[in-house]
Amino acid sequence: MITSPALDRISPSQTTAMTDRATRLREDGVDVISLSVGEPDFATPPHVIQAAKTALDEGQTKYTPVGGTSRMKQAAALHFARDLGIEAPTANITVSAGGKQAIFHAIMATVGEGDEVIVPAPWWVSYPEIVKFAGASPIPLRTSAKNGFRFSAGELEAQIGPRTRWLMLNSPGNPTGAVYPREMLLAIGEVLRRHPRVLILSDDIYSPLIYTGAPHAAFAALCPDLAERVLTVSGVSKSHAMTGFRIGVAAGPAWLIQAMEKLQSHASGNPCSISQAAAIAAFEGTQDFLREWRERFRARRDLVVEAINAVPGLSTPVPDGAFYCMVDAAPLMTRFKDDAALAMHLLDHGVAIVPASAFGGRDGFRISFAADDARLREACARIAKALS
Ligand code: GLU
Repeated sequence: MITSPALDRISPSQTTAMTDRATRLREDGVDVISLSVGEPDFATPPHVIQAAKTALDEGQTKYTPVGGTSRMKQAAALHFARDLGIEAPTANITVSAGGKQAIFHAIMATVGEGDEVIVPAPWWVSYPEIVKFAGASPIPLRTSAKNGFRFSAGELEAQIGPRTRWLMLNSPGNPTGAVYPREMLLAIGEVLRRHPRVLILSDDIYSPLIYTGAPHAAFAALCPDLAERVLTVSGVSKSHAMTGFRIGVAAGPAWLIQAMEKLQSHASGNPCSISQAAAIAAFEGTQDFLREWRERFRARRDLVVEAINAVPGLSTPVPDGAFYCMVDAAPLMTRFKDDAALAMHLLDHGVAIVPASAFGGRDGFRISFAADDARLREACARIAKALS
């Protein structure tokens, strides 16, 4: 068995690994509630499904341009302008197989050995692995529950060095649900103006899921003078329950979009033609259902926060966005070798979650509350019993 040095630098995605494990157990008849993956449980809206069926019936089953059809890019431009306040012509937009592929290509196309990428921790599992695969070094920017899992402008500036190439920004954030308010993003922009070599990857995929009542603040919209250095990533997976369709969209400077498409032309080629038709319907159709989804997620969040905080030894802050709670289990860790062992213990008791260490955290776990109330209640009861 011979693998490349680049592959040897990374670990498999622990979110997908845990989810695959839970799926296998369920297929074997084991009763497991999977709260490991971040995936809305709601059905994909019917008009989106219909658009996919129509695309099939119309024979839209062939190659499209590598970065998506013109119509798809126009629909993405509509989304960026309407939902994020980012005005981007289609030359500044590309479409990929999920937001993950856009991030992968952006990093692969721009960094190499010796480069550094600042990754706020806890981070989404794939950010540091993509950076390592590209040969660069992820530089953790630690945050904690005490500061709402948000870094300040001053903390960011202290981490920027001559080799810094990117800052990863993710608001609302996975795995903590942290939301950066406008003022914090403006202060971060002020720091970045002083460091013209640093690019900013703003992952706004959870933008529709904010529970504070405040509108989403997109970094690129707040700091338009930095547009030449900002790549904003979004998609339909979380907003329209379309994870399986694999459509991500990115808006950024034309040179970067072209670089990403160059890579994509050799990697996967165009994103799925049927999925593009579905995503056009998602962006162009009604967004009204989102209000109801958001309210349901908010109620689920409250349910999980209350149930988890009632378990002796566990605690979680109230996340402002996305659909995850980052649970601290430090008081219980004398009973487990590490949080991976804690995760296996919970799996043995019928609940799949992801250990905090997968996200650059420790002594805890991420729980996704994108499941119905009954399953969330049952899962929390199982966790309480497993740890009693
Ligand atoms: N973003 C989701 C999660 O964190 C999907 C799985 C993945 O790609 O990591 O669970």
